[in-house]
Amino acid sequence: MQYLFDAWSKVAHYLKSAKHVLLLCDYDGTLTPIVDRPELAAPPRDTRKSLLKLARNHRYTVGIISGRALADIKSRVEVEGIIYAGNHGLEIEGFGSSFLEPIAEEMRPFFQLLSQVLSATLRGIKGTLVENKGLTLSVHYRSVDDTEEKKVKDAFSKVTDPLHVTGRIRITQGKKVYEIRPPVDWDKGKAIAWLIAKCKEARGKADALPIYLGDDLADEEGFKVIERNNGISIFVGEEDFQSVARYFLRSPEEVAEFLEML
Ligand SMILES: [Mg+2]
Repeated sequence: MQYLFDAWSKVAHYLKSAKHVLLLCDYDGTLTPIVDRPELAAPPRDTRKSLLKLARNHRYTVGIISGRALADIKSRVEVEGIIYAGNHGLEIEGFGSSFLEPIAEEMRPFFQLLSQVLSATLRGIKGTLVENKGLTLSVHYRSVDDTEEKKVKDAFSKVTDPLHVTGRIRITQGKKVYEIRPPVDWDKGKAIAWLIAKCKEARGKADALPIYLGDDLADEEGFKVIERNNGISIFVGEEDFQSVARYFLRSPEEVAEFLEML
């Protein structure tokens, strides 16, 4: 990976020569610093201002792709005229249409029940937070004491292993979070590919330069799709992280700077 600001003249050249830019960003850890309680995550003020400006710029199509529920991410970013993709792209609103993964939608009651079972199972471990996001479910353990993390893992496995081995759920891991997803072949990468195609369609088959910024394992599939489409993939975090992204920025503060430069 190359530090984005070191490669700025090259990147600026790509940006200037592109007729249109499809700018896609993850939310937590990318636009906002990661915090102990996910409900408190908020972007720096400059970031929102830049997103507003870019959303109004006809050369840009802007989108946020988050693991959060669609309604949650929309109410946090609160910028009109941009694309919102929630639950890792299982639900998308943008280009005047919406997408809802049908199997995921059918599994809502199942996730509701599973979230109750997990909450009851993890109740004894201080700091765990079970978040039912409608189409997926997160178990956060950032606030759990290090010595208790094994307990979380064991309790989580006890409930989810039987469902996982029978293929009824998918499990992924992020930063201090377990995620349970429906067993569908859909992720941020597939959602980004869908958005690239939609953007092209909306612009009368004209290509746009796609950019994606993300900070976690779930973003790697997104970077791959961006690379396949000759776009700009930007990992947010430490340089030594094994990411497939071509560039990196160190923090959401640097992302704010980058957005300002755009
Ligand atoms: Mg993230």
